[in-house]
Amino acid sequence: MATPHKRFERAVGCRHLSASCGYIGARGYFRFAMPLVLLLCAFPFASAELGPIAARHGAGGAVIQMEPRLLSNEPYVAVKDLRELFNDENSPVRLRYFYRSSTRRLSVQLRMPSGQSRIVRLKMGSAEAAIGTRGSVSMRRPAVEIAGEPWTPIQFLTEAIPKAAPVLVEYDAGARELVVRAADSTPEAEPPMEPSDPTPIIESTLPETPPYALMELEAPVWTGLKVAVDAGHGGSDVGLERSGAVEKDLTLALAKEIKTAAALAGGAVFLTRADDAARALEERMQAAEEGGATAFISLHFNDSISSGRSGYRIVTLPPDRSSTEGENADRRASPPEDAEKLADAVEEALKEAGFEGKRLRLPLPALERANRPALYIEMAYLSNAEEAGYWLLSQTIESAAAAIWNGAARYKP
Ligand SMILES: [Zn+2]
Repeated sequence: MATPHKRFERAVGCRHLSASCGYIGARGYFRFAMPLVLLLCAFPFASAELGPIAARHGAGGAVIQMEPRLLSNEPYVAVKDLRELFNDENSPVRLRYFYRSSTRRLSVQLRMPSGQSRIVRLKMGSAEAAIGTRGSVSMRRPAVEIAGEPWTPIQFLTEAIPKAAPVLVEYDAGARELVVRAADSTPEAEPPMEPSDPTPIIESTLPETPPYALMELEAPVWTGLKVAVDAGHGGSDVGLERSGAVEKDLTLALAKEIKTAAALAGGAVFLTRADDAARALEERMQAAEEGGATAFISLHFNDSISSGRSGYRIVTLPPDRSSTEGENADRRASPPEDAEKLADAVEEALKEAGFEGKRLRLPLPALERANRPALYIEMAYLSNAEEAGYWLLSQTIESAAAAIWNGAARYKP
């Protein structure tokens, strides 16, 4: 699909290319090149003034203005406009995306009311939208990048998204109207490919909006990054139970969300447990070893007799202890500075998302035996009813997961 892609880019770029067009003229090609350039420039833009589309959820929903563009007679929408459309409170599904300009790859995550999510992948210049085990949708025209942002044909919205998630999207070109409705079920009855949230998360009982931001996901800076995310507890080992929150469920929901964030951002994360099962410390370490992890992050929640205590605690080994000591002395895998770098990066990202807390240095067995840069993070105090309440909201899990992933993505040994 390289040819149409190039043509789109050139045509789209012409809006900003008057200087280049003049340059061609100055070099003496004017007489031959200019009419051709003008023709290429004029063709899409003669019809590019498509005007706004009124998009809404259901018949009576609030109108969201979208500014589509017409390229080769196909209406295109900016993916960031789709995010706005699907993050409306009336939307039956939520959408977020990750786009990496260097690889021109776009991942779009659709999150259903059930908490399940599915990822649709596109490459700029290609008309194929891949929907995991559901195959793909072939669009008439390829996705394109305009000014560093991904744009898709409206067909992506009317055909690919409804194949991936339980929504119906109708586009009336004449009336310039786009209506999104909830479908009773996904078109094909089939279990979703993405991990489902097992969680105790009930959005209808929200105390209030959590004070945490959902950060844009970042691509990993180090190609060698492979993070083993360790959801603390599991099975009969429930961990803490406070304020309606159960530690083993929260750690698993967070771990899965970190994995999803990494998948969206083109990173590598695997879990030491992906279901509600008990795991001994040795099994967790073995999973990290077998998966070839270059970083290890264990997730937990904290408890205190002081109900006012709050915030995360990021734990690394004390400087005089490391995973090189004791029984593992012959299996040195990482200098302790790397764990500190990883902790710095994760803490920085958590702070950017609005989480507050402290760093601690403790000789915890999970850190001493990790054999790779390792963090043990107590995400919050479940003994603090307000903080625990926030953690019962899926927004908090998503915000924390995006921050932890972004922190890991910034780490390089
Ligand atoms: Zn714990």
